[in-house]
Amino acid sequence: MDISVVIPLYNEEESLPELHAWIKRVMEQHRFSYEIIFVNDGSTDRSWEVIEHLGSENPEVHGIKFRRNYGKSPALFHGFERAEGDVVITMDADLQDSPDEIPELYRMITEDGYDLVSGYKQKRYDPLSKTIPTKLFNATARKVSGIHNLHDFNCGLKAYKKEVVKNIEVYGDMHRYIPYLAKNAGYRKIGEKVVHHQARKYGHTKFGLDRFVNGYLDLLSLWFLSTYGVQPMHVFGLVGTLMFIIGLVAAVCVGVLKLIALYNGGDYTLVTDSPYFYIALTMMILGTQLFVGGFVAELVSRNSQERNKYQVEKTV
Ligand code: UDP
Ligand code: MG
Repeated sequence: MDISVVIPLYNEEESLPELHAWIKRVMEQHRFSYEIIFVNDGSTDRSWEVIEHLGSENPEVHGIKFRRNYGKSPALFHGFERAEGDVVITMDADLQDSPDEIPELYRMITEDGYDLVSGYKQKRYDPLSKTIPTKLFNATARKVSGIHNLHDFNCGLKAYKKEVVKNIEVYGDMHRYIPYLAKNAGYRKIGEKVVHHQARKYGHTKFGLDRFVNGYLDLLSLWFLSTYGVQPMHVFGLVGTLMFIIGLVAAVCVGVLKLIALYNGGDYTLVTDSPYFYIALTMMILGTQLFVGGFVAELVSRNSQERNKYQVEKTV
C-alpha cells in the first residue's frame, strides 16, 4: 500500500464526509493505493456514526474509537500503530489542511528521501491571538531541538516514512514536537513544504490558551529528557558537587579568619554575623540536595524498562 492517511478527530461530524470525498478524489486521480484511518478521540457528537457509515460504503476507510477524549497525541499514536502504507500522512479533520498536498508530500518522502516532511502554513488563517504566540513557540522549539529548518513544528499536515511512525512514541501532548521525537530517534532528514491553509469551516478549535503553557513545559521536559534523561547524575552530580565544594571552602575561610582574628587578640564579632557564613551554609545544603536528587534520578533511570532500548537501523 502506498499511503495511510491518519486523521485524529474530536467532534468534527460536519467536516468528515467532505474531507473523505476530497481525499478520495486526490488519491484516485493519482492512482495511489491507500487507506484512511479516522481516530475518533471520544467525540460527543455524531462523528462515529459518520465514520461507520463511510466505512460501510468504502473499504479503504477504517476507524478507531476511543471510549473518552484522550487528546490528539494518543489518537495519532493509535493511528500510527494501525497504519500499513509505505508513507503515512497525518492531517487535521477540520478541513484546514488540504488533501491536494498529498501527492507532493508523497513524492518528497519516496523520491527525495526525507524521513519526515512537515507542512508549513506560511499564510495562516487563524486569529492573531494564535499566530503570534505560535511564532515565539516555533522559534524556541527550533533552538532547543536543533532542527533549524522548520518554521512550523505543530502543523497537523505531515508525511512520514512508515518506519518513523513505528519507532516514535507520541504521548501526552507531544504531537507538537514530533519532528524532535523523530530526530531523537535518529531520523535526521527532516524537511518542510509550504502548504495551503484555510480558515476552519465548521465547528471551533479544540485547544484553549493553555496550549502555550503546556507546550513550553513539554518542550522543557523533552529537552531535559533527551539531554540528561539517560545520565541525570552527569548534570545534578556535577552542579551539586561544585556547589558543595565552594560552600565548604567558604565555610573553612570564615572559620580560619575568625581563628586568625582571635589569635591576633580579641575580635569579638561572631562567625554568624558574617553574611559569608550563611552563603556558605546554603551552598552546602543546596549542593547536597542536588547531588542526592541526581542520585535518585539515576536509580530511577537505571530501573527504567527503556534503559536498553536503542534504535537499531540494520544488522547483517
Ligand atoms: N483533536 C483531537 N483530540 C483533541 C483535540 C483535537 O483529536 O482532544 C483533533 C481535532 O479534531 C482536529 C485536530 O486535532 O482534527 C486539530 O485540532 P484543532 O483544529 O482544534 O486545532 P487548531 O487547528 O486550532 O490548532
Ligand atoms: Mg484546526
